[in-house]
Amino acid sequence: MRFPSFPNLIRAFHTVTNTTNAFLRTNPTTLGRTIYSSPQRATVLRSMPSIPFLSALFGSSTAMADDTKYPVSKLDGEWQAQLSPEQFRILRKKGTEMPGSGTYNKHYPTEGTYTCTGCDAPLYKANHKFDSGCGWPAFWDAVPGAVGQKPDPGLGMMRTEIVCNNCGGHLGHIFKGERFGNPKDDRHCVNSVSINFSKDKEDGKSEL
Ligand SMILES: [Zn+2]
Repeated sequence: MRFPSFPNLIRAFHTVTNTTNAFLRTNPTTLGRTIYSSPQRATVLRSMPSIPFLSALFGSSTAMADDTKYPVSKLDGEWQAQLSPEQFRILRKKGTEMPGSGTYNKHYPTEGTYTCTGCDAPLYKANHKFDSGCGWPAFWDAVPGAVGQKPDPGLGMMRTEIVCNNCGGHLGHIFKGERFGNPKDDRHCVNSVSINFSKDKEDGKSEL
């Protein structure tokens, strides 16, 4: 077990949000070093999905404070009944799949639509996708209005989370100004688990 004492750890996290000194008094040798050193802190955060209690505690401050109303809204239990454990971890708990592991990482169809795994809303078109070499599916733009953005503090930096605007499902993060040479200088870095591909989701309409 990585954490020998959960009560101490939980108490420490409550304390650190208020005063650093009090936190250090709690357990200066192990906890202080583990939490404050940023590379190791990242390790702690990555290990969270297997520790639900900790995940709920500080895994996603924006999600816990998020009162956005989405057209598709379900309780965790309902999502768990619908999604696989991995889908639930990523879509509903802001998880991240291993780089290079995703179904759509190197998937480059000429046409078609990527839809939300949670609610089936169309999110990205095939021609939005490009090869970023980062290990996750990358899109330079999205279906208009389909993808929302939210500040996501954590891991010692401020990132911008992207979510499905229909169900609030976590897709990944967006990075700007990286100069990949696309018409729009954005990179939607998306988990394959969060999306499905449909060859002709909207093609029926385009026949007109
Ligand atoms: Zn959705």
